[in-house]
Amino acid sequence: MMRLTCPWCGPRPEHEFHCGGTTGIQRPPLDCSDETWGRYLYGRENPAGLHAERWRHTYGCSQWFNALRDTQTHAVHAVWRMTEPMPEVPR
Ligand SMILES: [Zn+2]
Repeated sequence: MMRLTCPWCGPRPEHEFHCGGTTGIQRPPLDCSDETWGRYLYGRENPAGLHAERWRHTYGCSQWFNALRDTQTHAVHAVWRMTEPMPEVPR
């Protein structure tokens, strides 16, 4: 089982969290082209390796935060609050 460290509550089991997908995606303006809007809605990467994601501690404090997770090993390399910049992580 994967464990995530909530920035507010500390280490918790995976089943307390909900993944919100890739973090840091900017919503385009409403008057953008259909192609840009489609890319925003459906054009996600699915990397084999490090992936920056949004997570919510659904069955805890309900806060959203970011995590840098390896999609192959499920190792979490960093977690940070939504208002903080992504920490430096050796790759
Ligand atoms: Zn929490």
